[in-house]
Amino acid sequence: MSAVPKNTAQHAEPSAAALEMIDRLIAFPTVSRDSNLGLIEYARDYLARLGVKPYLVYDRSEKKANLFCTLADDPERVRSAGIVLSGHTDTVPIDGQEWATDPFKATHSFASGNGRIHGRGTADMKGFIAIALAWAPRFLAVQREMPIHLSLTYDEETTFFGVRGLVKDLEERGVRPAGCIIGEPTDMQAIVAHKGKRDFCCRVRGREAHSSLTPTAVNAIEFAAQIIAFIRALADRVARDEPKDLRFEVPHSTLQTGVIKGGIATNVVPRDCEFNFEMRNIPATPHDSMSTQIIDYAQRELLPQMRRVAPEAGIQFDMGLDLPAFGIAPDAPLVQWAMELARTANLGTGAVSFATEASVFTNFGIPTVVLGPGSIAQAHKPDEYITYDQVAACEQLFARMIEATPPGR
Ligand SMILES: [Zn+2]
Repeated sequence: MSAVPKNTAQHAEPSAAALEMIDRLIAFPTVSRDSNLGLIEYARDYLARLGVKPYLVYDRSEKKANLFCTLADDPERVRSAGIVLSGHTDTVPIDGQEWATDPFKATHSFASGNGRIHGRGTADMKGFIAIALAWAPRFLAVQREMPIHLSLTYDEETTFFGVRGLVKDLEERGVRPAGCIIGEPTDMQAIVAHKGKRDFCCRVRGREAHSSLTPTAVNAIEFAAQIIAFIRALADRVARDEPKDLRFEVPHSTLQTGVIKGGIATNVVPRDCEFNFEMRNIPATPHDSMSTQIIDYAQRELLPQMRRVAPEAGIQFDMGLDLPAFGIAPDAPLVQWAMELARTANLGTGAVSFATEASVFTNFGIPTVVLGPGSIAQAHKPDEYITYDQVAACEQLFARMIEATPPGR
């Protein structure tokens, strides 16, 4: 077990306990495609030694799990109180990246004047998880005033399946804390919005024929092209008419087609064509409003034309990723509370272009803010790092949380 962190509120130095925990967690190679059980079981055993009962929810393959726990002697009593500290355990891969150090061994360097810890996931976002685990003994000591819950998820960098399973488990167990902080790397700035993302694979099936006999056939590529042109026209309309959300670099929702496959030869009318498209909506625009228009157009306008020639023709839409947009009012009590305690109110609130698990917690009815140590500029890159200053800033936030009264609902 790590030493209990000292109250670092007066010093901008990270605690030995936090640094040691970061070293440990970086050593688990939890790339999204691989298992995260090494890290999860380590955290489980560590928490169990503190007398806490963690809940693990496994995926179908049983190679991955979420962990949720309430840092309290009597979790039942405080299941609707306190704050969740949440982070994803998975990282992006290192494939094709040139690293100066071993990505799965935390390497401390002081060349820049400020201490840095290099390693995959230091910023995004095992650094935050490690600091929260290191502080668990301190959180346990103040559980009556400010119960803290820890949430560790899998598959955030890919499908967001982990957090969905975790929230489903919370619902079943009737656990709904008063707020959630997702410690993604934001340099401790309070992030209150990100766009949603939804993508589809569209499969168009027509009827093939020799290309000299086009009237007897249904050209799948041509019908797919009409849907794609419709998506493009919708994107233009949205860009023109949607009320702008100027917090985003691109201040409106976007749609685009990214992949297309179809046909076998110039002299064969193609039977099959498939393409992938995505939409990224601002918080004020539901994604349903865009995808419904596309699907309606395909089913009502195009499909009858295709079936007049080939009754077996079809158009199928398979949804892949579906993550709602995230938005919380910048003056929400949780947001104001978190940025005051982080001492970053001077930065104001922000919006980011990357997706997070915040929308899943928010839709479950837990007010959520994204605020954590490290910078997204260093995430996903070779030689990813977090600075000692940012580790210390996160510890100071936790120290002040322990002293503070909880935010209002
Ligand atoms: Zn992340």
